[in-house]
Amino acid sequence: MPWKGIRDPYKIWLSEIILQQTRVIQGEKYYLAFTKKYPNIHNLALAKEEEVFRLWQGLGYYNRCRNLLLTAKIIAEKYHGQFPNTYHEIRELKGIGDYTAAAIASFAYNLPHAVVDGNVVRVLSRIFGIKKTFHDAKGKKYFQELAFKLMPSTKSAQYNQAIMDFGAIICKPASPHCTECPFSKICIAKAQNKVTEYPVKKEKKALKIRHFHFYVLQDETNLYLIKRNEKDIWKDLHTPYMIETNGKEKPNSPIFLNSMKVEKSFSLRQQLTHQQLYGHFRIVHIESKKQHLPIEFIKVKKTALTDFAFPRMIISFFKKFDYL
Ligand code: SF4
Repeated sequence: MPWKGIRDPYKIWLSEIILQQTRVIQGEKYYLAFTKKYPNIHNLALAKEEEVFRLWQGLGYYNRCRNLLLTAKIIAEKYHGQFPNTYHEIRELKGIGDYTAAAIASFAYNLPHAVVDGNVVRVLSRIFGIKKTFHDAKGKKYFQELAFKLMPSTKSAQYNQAIMDFGAIICKPASPHCTECPFSKICIAKAQNKVTEYPVKKEKKALKIRHFHFYVLQDETNLYLIKRNEKDIWKDLHTPYMIETNGKEKPNSPIFLNSMKVEKSFSLRQQLTHQQLYGHFRIVHIESKKQHLPIEFIKVKKTALTDFAFPRMIISFFKKFDYL
């Protein structure tokens, strides 16, 4: 992992934000791309929003990207480009929660803050036989306080890294190496022969099913797109005109679409953590001179699509039909 052992708070922050809700293997190439294009916080603070969104494209959870930009600007202006060096100031920045603040405070400044990630929760819950979930406020507080109590007053960075690595390498989620483990004699989960029952899982949220009907309006040279502004997934990204319904049946289309003929249809599916998305695409050719579209439409040359940021589902569609 290219961020391992790094003391630069900017790079630690970047890696932690990228790794929220993203697997290491996927996050690594984004981390390398971001640090190459924006080697320091000033570069990121001065970057154009659309350009940063494009680099983030494919990672999902675009709020992270929005907060990344906002925080870079705050640090550039309020802190003159120097990452703040107290837990309190770091925690106040947009998009930074307890975990990320502790990771920056500990790994960059060696401040005594316990970094509690999934690995740490697993190790502690197994050794101490803790039957609490980390996924509610009470459980979070419990694990946070326990981890802090166990941490030595100096070398917090070393301790935090060690317990995280121990969880990743020895006390793994499935098939932990209990026979080689120095805690095997005191580990409650091992004594109970229930290691895989720890940590206690959170209750599964029901999957929300959503059907998006896209109208891919185009003439010979242009596509007509919408920038999403709603407080929902894909905010600030571009998509073809879209109507959401509860089912896959064709929705009632607005007046401006009534006279248009659908030339091709195509469907795609995408699974998010708590949402199952179905995209039903309809390709519609229009005569740009005759057709009056509502004001929110943005005319984009088909050859200039790479200047815009799109959700993964739209990129898949564009690739399928050779727009990209
Ligand atoms: S004995 Fe097994 S379950 Fe317990 S801490 Fe060690 S590796 Fe984890």
